[in-house]
Amino acid sequence: LIDRLQKILHPDDIFVEELLAAHTTFRVGGPAEFFITPRCTNEVAQICEICRTEDIPLFILGDGSNVLVSDAGLRGVVLCTAKLDKIAVLDSGLITAQAGAKLAKVAQEAHKAGLAGFEFASGIPGTVGGAVYMNAGAYDGTVGEFCKSVTMLQNCRTIKTIPGSEMNFGYRQSIAQTNGGFILEATFQLHPGNTDEILAKMRDLNNRRRKSQPLEYPSAGSTFKRPPGYFAGKLIEDSGLKGFTIGGAQVSEKHAGFVINIGQAGRTSAHDIYNLIQEVQRQVYEKFQIQLEPEVKILGF
Ligand SMILES: Cc1cc2nc3c(=O)[nH]c(=O)nc-3n(C[C@H](O)[C@H](O)[C@H](O)COP(=O)(O)OP(=O)(O)OC[C@H]3O[C@@H](n4cnc5c(N)ncnc54)[C@H](O)[C@@H]3O)c2cc1C
Repeated sequence: LIDRLQKILHPDDIFVEELLAAHTTFRVGGPAEFFITPRCTNEVAQICEICRTEDIPLFILGDGSNVLVSDAGLRGVVLCTAKLDKIAVLDSGLITAQAGAKLAKVAQEAHKAGLAGFEFASGIPGTVGGAVYMNAGAYDGTVGEFCKSVTMLQNCRTIKTIPGSEMNFGYRQSIAQTNGGFILEATFQLHPGNTDEILAKMRDLNNRRRKSQPLEYPSAGSTFKRPPGYFAGKLIEDSGLKGFTIGGAQVSEKHAGFVINIGQAGRTSAHDIYNLIQEVQRQVYEKFQIQLEPEVKILGF
């Protein structure tokens, strides 16, 4: 595999046994057998095709802000989209961005261009690819609402542009979670706005975020999805679990919906976080008969 990767990718874009703790916001996770950072769609398509034909596991990683990777790491190829990060402001309120562009950067570009609508996204960590896949959202907006189209690589061969209306966006849901497609690019439809007002709204939302969320600790944001009719954080708090700790993993005192990594210098294991998630699920179910579903993608356990 390494020979084949070297024929396709720049040498600086191939890493062997790369620790994923350095590429996830939880700051945990063992090595990726091969960690690669392709620079163009053609490279992505070739790698996908090799993995498909050779039956090699392939995992697409954006900014790693919604994943928990086991301490054993991941076999096969972890394809990180970080170098596919172009953003272009088009006419008529459209912004197009490659999968690896930071969502917050898209929000900044929208502000600079006097385009409103994307303020909600300015504090969400992660990439455009991850945000479309998850249909990320906060406060008064979701990515899906503004998504005009998504260009995906399907079956490693066909590049198809799908209208936003056909992406099956729902709460933390998109068609990408079921069709296994690789999100290459997304185009967002925004509307003209006043730059001062856009900036003021972004600042206000980010202040609210800083006040209510434990941003000073590594985490993956809200650990659990919102169960219909409830808030995960409230259920966890009402189960008496605020501050509950296993090893270096803790239910945040500031926001019980966040599991945080409180360990010093890499001493927290992914297993601590995994065990904590399971214990929270068990205790909330015991108390309220509600099954919390992780929003975070749990990998390699
Ligand atoms: C402090 C903090 C606050 C957060 N706040 C919010 C919030 O307010 N709202 C919210 O919705 N989320 C929030 N999150 C979670 C997270 O930031 C989002 O889910 C984000 O969209 C994930 O993007 P990512 O690039 O990091 O994806 P990753 O974590 O790298 O990947 C997530 C999933 O997307 C898939 N994926 C990534 N890129 C592609 C691609 N190009 N094609 C196909 N699949 C792909 C991955 O395979 C994986 O299954 C927060 C996280 C943190 C750490």
